[in-house]
Amino acid sequence: MRIVLVGPPGAGKGTQAAYLAKILTIPHISTGDLFRANISQGTELGKTAKSYMDAGNLVPDEVTIAMARDRMAQPDAEKGFLLDGFPRNVSQAVALDEALKADGVKLDAVLDLEVPEDEVVKRIAGRRICRNDSAHVFHVTYSPPEQDGVCDVCGGELYQRNDDSEDTVRTRLEVYHTQTEPIIDHYRGQGLVVTISALGKVTDVTDRAMEALGSDRAASA
Ligand code: AMP
Repeated sequence: MRIVLVGPPGAGKGTQAAYLAKILTIPHISTGDLFRANISQGTELGKTAKSYMDAGNLVPDEVTIAMARDRMAQPDAEKGFLLDGFPRNVSQAVALDEALKADGVKLDAVLDLEVPEDEVVKRIAGRRICRNDSAHVFHVTYSPPEQDGVCDVCGGELYQRNDDSEDTVRTRLEVYHTQTEPIIDHYRGQGLVVTISALGKVTDVTDRAMEALGSDRAASA
């Protein structure tokens, strides 16, 4: 399956993408994670991306599209993938359409995670992520780790993302509304959009997503 995941910051895209990719046995491709890996490795791409990310703005299309295409061309993505955080504006969506067309393949669905704005701000402000694996996500109030600052899953150090500060979150939300939301209409025109609520327990949201994608393999199975 070839799936695009859309939703505002804090909708739980990364968490859901990790579960869904595992259930569907397709790679989880997160452009945010790819940029963060480049930043920690100190690459030129990471240096370019960092200032945009820290301000909550989009990294320029040229570098983003090239990086995403490069990742999608890896052998593990031949049979399908789950894109998390890409495309993030209409020109990236058009570039993706063209790349898929050139490969003679199509998207199966665009999964739109819906969550009210006040919930988004609460979720992001308390979010803590494991340095070893960005799928290990905690929340200081909603799902605190057993030991402060330590990942329950692997013992890694938990940290707050630079761009999870309140000011940056506001910019990211504005960027989402003005630049990313229009891709939902773009894909609606292709009949690909399925919208689900991202509220509630993580496994319930995963079940909802699997049902919307037309698969009967429940998350809890
Ligand atoms: P995420 O981890 O998906 O929340 O992404 C974190 C940040 O990485 C975003 O706020 C952007 O600065 C940058 N980023 C991730 N994906 C993209 C994209 N497709 N286009 C431009 N910038 C992106």
